[in-house]
Amino acid sequence: METLTDLDRLGDQIAELSAHLDAATAQLLDLIREFDARSGWNTGFRSCAAWLSWRIGLDLGAARERVRVARALGTLPRLAHALARGELSYAKVRALTRVATPDTEERLLAVGKAGTAEHVERIVRGWRQVDRQAEARQTARRHAGRALHVYQDEDGMVIIRGRLAPEVGAVVMKALDAARETLYQRSRETAGDTVIEDVPAETPTMAQQQADALALVAETALHHGIDPGVPGDRYQVVVHVDAPVLADTDAPGQSILEDGTHVPAETCRRLACDASRVVMRHDAHGHVVEVGARTRTIPPALRRALDHRDRGCRFPGCGLPSGQGHHVRHWANGGPTTLSNLALLCRRHHRAVHEEGYRVDRQPDGALRFRRPDGELLPAVPPPATVPVDPVEVLRARHDAQGLRVHARTSMPGWLGERLDVGWAIDVLHPLAAG
Ligand SMILES: [Zn+2]
Ligand SMILES: [Zn+2]
Repeated sequence: METLTDLDRLGDQIAELSAHLDAATAQLLDLIREFDARSGWNTGFRSCAAWLSWRIGLDLGAARERVRVARALGTLPRLAHALARGELSYAKVRALTRVATPDTEERLLAVGKAGTAEHVERIVRGWRQVDRQAEARQTARRHAGRALHVYQDEDGMVIIRGRLAPEVGAVVMKALDAARETLYQRSRETAGDTVIEDVPAETPTMAQQQADALALVAETALHHGIDPGVPGDRYQVVVHVDAPVLADTDAPGQSILEDGTHVPAETCRRLACDASRVVMRHDAHGHVVEVGARTRTIPPALRRALDHRDRGCRFPGCGLPSGQGHHVRHWANGGPTTLSNLALLCRRHHRAVHEEGYRVDRQPDGALRFRRPDGELLPAVPPPATVPVDPVEVLRARHDAQGLRVHARTSMPGWLGERLDVGWAIDVLHPLAAG
């Protein structure tokens, strides 16, 4: 029969090793924060979390959480320190960083040290509710405060003053930017952005340009019957591209949007990879002599087969469920539209292989092989990290060397068994609690 002391010792070992792991997690989060800040993941991955998921095998949700906590701890030194000392578990830190700010960190650290993981979880939930209520009040206040005053001055000029919600203001500013661009693109191209002395005297000031832009926005809106369009229309882009340009990006020829804006040849190749296509023939004078029927470059049946085979973006570490069909050898270069010449890529990674210098080819055995712009292979599975024979001993030795004394009671809560009154705790702790 096992003695209680044996089991006590086993329990102590569990607690001690857990504290070591929490302390090591703090170091891991420091590394992740630095890697993230220095964009070390930006080698074809869409985010630091996607890179982590690829490199260390975390599921994407857990990877995102690590990155979030790592970033948060950058501004929360007390919580970071407690984790690094093994005094606060990662689970508690994760919960507390959802609500902690530099102002409330100290109070929340006390909650973390005094309470069990469940107490912390409940307090954080209550805390967030107060945060959300405060946020909702602020949003409602902002929304109620929206206004646009338009009136005429004595000299007949019209004066406009207003307050817009941030997202509405963003749309307005974007429209003004676009209108200003349209009106003044040419004069800016000749004048340059920085050389103020050389700008001709007749160049309108920024304020004047904004006024002209607003007029253009209004005219355009009226011309289109104030129709914002359905989302599909709004994002549909039509590109006219000469066949030789599609086959060879250095070939002379045009690739332009309907309004005449030039589009880089590689972008055309990406858009043409998986698109609706209408082939037109021109005579020597540029007159259209023949217009073919609109077809999909990848017919729907093949598209379904491709979705079924690839199930998501094939770029290493991505796997996003929906994507575009990429021709490994472009159809404009004679590449066939067959399953073996197609690979599913998400938007981000389709852009990577066309416009950012990433390369993909298919091996004789059918496997896809990706390369970074510098030619380095980007394996679907990274090489394994080297791990010492007894990683726990190495961890203990390192913590010893750092002067970190971790034992079985390092992360014990100070709780003595009293009932937790979450509402009361939040009222006392939260700076915005109405009471
Ligand atoms: Zn493509
Ligand atoms: Zn992708």
